[in-house]
Amino acid sequence: MAPWLRRPNQDTLADDLSVCDPDPYPADGGSDHAWLPISGDLPCSRAGCSRVNAVVCAYVDRRGSTCDTAWCPDDQLIADGRPYCVRHGRVVRALHIEGLGPDPLPDIDNRAASLVDFVADAVSTSMGTALHGAWPGDLGLGVHPLAVQHTAPHRRRMWTRKWKLHSHTGNAVAVVLAVAEDRDHVLMVAVDSRTVAELVPPWISHRATGGKAAVRQAFYNDVVEAARRRVEQAYEQSTAVTLRDVRPEAAG
Ligand SMILES: [Zn+2]
Ligand SMILES: [Zn+2]
Repeated sequence: MAPWLRRPNQDTLADDLSVCDPDPYPADGGSDHAWLPISGDLPCSRAGCSRVNAVVCAYVDRRGSTCDTAWCPDDQLIADGRPYCVRHGRVVRALHIEGLGPDPLPDIDNRAASLVDFVADAVSTSMGTALHGAWPGDLGLGVHPLAVQHTAPHRRRMWTRKWKLHSHTGNAVAVVLAVAEDRDHVLMVAVDSRTVAELVPPWISHRATGGKAAVRQAFYNDVVEAARRRVEQAYEQSTAVTLRDVRPEAAG
């Protein structure tokens, strides 16, 4: 493999933009599906992939820094007609959906987009289960892809992932994970626009030990629990019913 191509390093987790998984959900808008995958002649950067028909991730930030990973047609993500690693492909898609085009792309070493996307993927299943548990009823769950928004007063850029519980009569509750580019070590958890927790992932706060599976799992549990608690409160307020009174395990 070419020396300038990096292998994804599982130890560095979301710090490393090259830690990429296959795209778990289709692009919003769907126009990218019209693009065919692109082949080249490089070894694929995905751990365990032995294909040698990869092309370099097309990501170049405003300072000219590049991603320097290569992805085969099966492992790349096409966005705006160009091949990217999954993380950068999602960033480009999110900017495209917001009508911001490929410019200005976040700096390659800014972890905001990759951190929120990585944590959201890691907690997605347990978040869905927790939300359904905290807000009983026959509700649908919408899981939204990586998105970007600008917040006042300095138009700081915030990267988000969102879950929305909804019924046929409207939206019940929304949970958002967010990381701002100017505070890219802090994960915010918000329920219906109210911030309920700000957490620094252990692999950032304690580099030596924070990457261990049990430590990571405890962090994911904290993220889900912060959201679950607030959603349960919101449900109780909206129905004036204390869940403790109706849950079978609390009876008697
Ligand atoms: Zn591959
Ligand atoms: Zn990339």
